[in-house]
Amino acid sequence: MAAIVIDGKEVAKSIRAELAAEVKELAQQGIVPALTVILVGEDPASHSYVRGKVKGCEEVGIRSEVIRMPDTTSQQELLETIAHLNENPNVHGILVQLPLPAHISEKAVIDAILPEKDVDGFHPINVGNMMIGEDAFLPCTPYGIVEMIKRTGVELTGKRVVVVGRSNIVGKPVAQLLLQENATVTMCHSRTTNLEEVTRQADILIVAVGKPGIIGREHVTPGTFVIDVGVNRLETGKLTGDVRFDEVAPIASYITPVPGGVGPMTITMLLKNTIKAARLLAKEEKRKG
Ligand code: NDP
Repeated sequence: MAAIVIDGKEVAKSIRAELAAEVKELAQQGIVPALTVILVGEDPASHSYVRGKVKGCEEVGIRSEVIRMPDTTSQQELLETIAHLNENPNVHGILVQLPLPAHISEKAVIDAILPEKDVDGFHPINVGNMMIGEDAFLPCTPYGIVEMIKRTGVELTGKRVVVVGRSNIVGKPVAQLLLQENATVTMCHSRTTNLEEVTRQADILIVAVGKPGIIGREHVTPGTFVIDVGVNRLETGKLTGDVRFDEVAPIASYITPVPGGVGPMTITMLLKNTIKAARLLAKEEKRKG
C-alpha cells in the first residue's frame, strides 16, 4: 500500500492557528512577542528564508523586524548589534540568518546571543540543556520533525530510528530529541559502511544529507516512516529532497515530500520558540518588578 504523504503545510497551518490564539491571549496581558532577524549580505536563498520568517510572524501576530547589514559588515559591528538587541526588553527573539560571510565567525555570533533570546536553539547553553533533558529552546528543524511525527499519532517509544546526517543543526539534535522520546536511535554519516544495511533496520528513517536522491528503494524496508529533510536545487531550478520519492513512496508507511514537508514546520517552530521567549522574558521582568 502506498505511503501517506504528510502535508507539512497543513500540519504547520494547524500549529500556526494554535500559536495565533496564544498570541491573542498574551496580548490581553500586554505582551506582544517580537522577533528580530539580522540578515548580513545578499545571499538570495537567505533573503527568501527571511521573507518566509517575516510572513510567518505576520500570520500569527508576532511583531518582526529585519536588520539588513551589508556583506562588508565587520564581526565587531555585528556583535555590537546583537549586544543592543540583548539589552532591548522589547525584543524577545534574536535570529542571525546563516550562513554569514566568511570573515565572520558563526560561533562567535551564536555565542553572543543571549540564551534566553536564542530562538534558533543554537547557543551552547540551549544545546547543553537539550542534551541533559532540561528546558531549552529547541532547534527549529529537529523540533518540527518530532512534532510532525507525533501529530500522525505514531508512537515513538521503542521504535528503531535511523538518522542519516550528523550536522549540529539537524542530525545530532533530532537524534537526541528522539532518544528522549524513548526511540532507539542509530546515526549514520559519510563514513558509515553498508548504509543500506543500517537504514533497512529503521522503523523511522530521517535523512538530512543534502544530496539529491541519495536514499532509494534499496535503503528502505516496506512500512518504514520516511522523513526527507534534504532541500536540493537541481540545475533545472526544481527543488528536490534526499529521498527518491517515486521509488520510496509506494512502499513507505508515511513519507514527507520536498518541498512541502519538513520545510514549513521549521519556520513554525521558530514562531513557537519566539512566543515561548516572550512568555519567559515577561515572567522574568515581572519577577524583577
Ligand atoms: P550538512 O552538510 O551540515 O551535513 C550533512 C551530513 O550528511 C553530514 O553529517 C555528512 O556526513 C552526511 N553525509 C554526506 N554524504 C553522505 C553519504 N554519502 N552518506 C551518509 N551521510 C552522508 O547538512 P545539514 O544538516 O545542514 O542539511 C542537510 C540537508 O537538509 C540539506 O539539504 C539542507 O538544505 C536541508 N535542511 C533543510 C531544512 C528545512 O527546514 N527543511 C533545515 C536545515 C537543513 P559527515 O558528517 O561525515 O560529513
